[in-house]
Amino acid sequence: MTVPLRFFNTLSRKVEAFEPRIPGKAGLYTCGPTVYAYAHIGNLRTYLFEDLLRRALIKAGYDVTHICNITDVGHLTSDSDDTGDDKMEQGAKREGRSVWELAQFYTDAFQADLKRLNVIPATAWPRATEHVPEQIAMVQTLIDKGFGYQADDGIYYDTSKFPRYGDFARKDLRGQEAGARVACADGKRNNSDFALWKFSPAGSKRLMEWDSPWGKGFPGWHIECSAMSVKYLGEQFDLHCGGIDHIPVHHSNEIAQTEAVTEKVPWVNYWLHGEFLVMDKAKMSKSSGEFLTLQRVIDRGFEALDYRFLCLQAHYRQQLAFTFESLESAKTGRKNLLDLFKDLGPFSPKDSEEARNHPYWTEFWKEIASDLNGPRALAKTWELGKDQTLRPGLKAAIAAEMDSLLGLDLLLPATAVAPLSPQAQLLLDERAAARAAKDFAQSDRLREQLAKLGILVKDTAKGQEWSRS
Ligand code: AMP
Ligand code: ZN
Repeated sequence: MTVPLRFFNTLSRKVEAFEPRIPGKAGLYTCGPTVYAYAHIGNLRTYLFEDLLRRALIKAGYDVTHICNITDVGHLTSDSDDTGDDKMEQGAKREGRSVWELAQFYTDAFQADLKRLNVIPATAWPRATEHVPEQIAMVQTLIDKGFGYQADDGIYYDTSKFPRYGDFARKDLRGQEAGARVACADGKRNNSDFALWKFSPAGSKRLMEWDSPWGKGFPGWHIECSAMSVKYLGEQFDLHCGGIDHIPVHHSNEIAQTEAVTEKVPWVNYWLHGEFLVMDKAKMSKSSGEFLTLQRVIDRGFEALDYRFLCLQAHYRQQLAFTFESLESAKTGRKNLLDLFKDLGPFSPKDSEEARNHPYWTEFWKEIASDLNGPRALAKTWELGKDQTLRPGLKAAIAAEMDSLLGLDLLLPATAVAPLSPQAQLLLDERAAARAAKDFAQSDRLREQLAKLGILVKDTAKGQEWSRS
């Protein structure tokens, strides 16, 4: 791709050109859901922005290893001061299921929502409960290095030992000493200190608890991301994402933990954060029980991709105010856009080649490459749709290229005759990149993903060949 990717990096607060640590490869970690309830549409906005990023990286030719954790323990109702109940235990009590059933049910529901939104699945979805030994080992290292200490209800991280602690969030931490503003848990040294391991309360059995060198208990929320990202992506990797709410607490804590353990700085080169979807509080708060899920949106007569379209209309770094009126106009907009591309008929590999050099595509890509500018890229797609002068085959081929980023099923009515769906083509491209980088485990995973889309891939002397199953 001629125009290289540039992203706004929270680390520097600047737009920077993306340069991978290893040529041709990109390691991406996206903080995943706490599976005690359905994801709300605000959460899904963040996963949609991350999907646009993933697609842009693939399209730019990178072999992407994408890890998305599943938080199935240790996320407390108040993460800012590590108090309150474990959300998983609370959810299990509320619904009368075991915590394990609860986790499985909401993990499946989450992945089903992503599928309906055309979000490409992560390479792996590690669960916190399946990585407790890795988390214990990391906490032990933090204690050994003088960062972890024992308080009454758990092991805490001493943020005063990590002088850069406030840098990521641009926070001034003077005056944060223990008890200065908020009551600290007994034995906690500084207000910004956070739990690495919490003890099970004496005399009561928790639904999820593990033995540790410091007593029975469960890991703090932040440690799972440090432990699992290092396990799957290495001690340093390229990109890490989440919603902006993660900047001051979760991601600041992840950085403090990981850089203290590995002493390799920076742990992550590019941090990207998505702005919030906002609407009235009750609809957005999972704890109120009334929040808006994708299913509720569908029950009101919308398609999941109407919501994807709505999100694409706003830049990921801008707040998006949700109303059903705006979703209604997104639905109309998407229908009108699809109408512009229907009945174009099939396109050939030669059309695709021509498409990749066509100004409609190169201008579209310029917008995507410029910090994932979805709204401006979408404007190019409208221009293409309205163009009456292009050959139908070429127009369809350019639309297919664009849709490999947009994921809107622009050409669905024509896919029966199109060579491959844009998503399958993207995965095939990614597999070619994985093979070029000799990443055969990744190329096998992509073969399985393609098989799920009904595409069988064979490796031949001439490269990959595919057929329909
Ligand atoms: P959680 O399940 O609460 O850990 O959140 C999952 C993801 O959704 C995280 O990346 C959050 O930053 C993000 N998130 C939470 N609320 C919103 C919102 N209203 N709009 C956009 N993203 C959100
Ligand atoms: Zn995380």
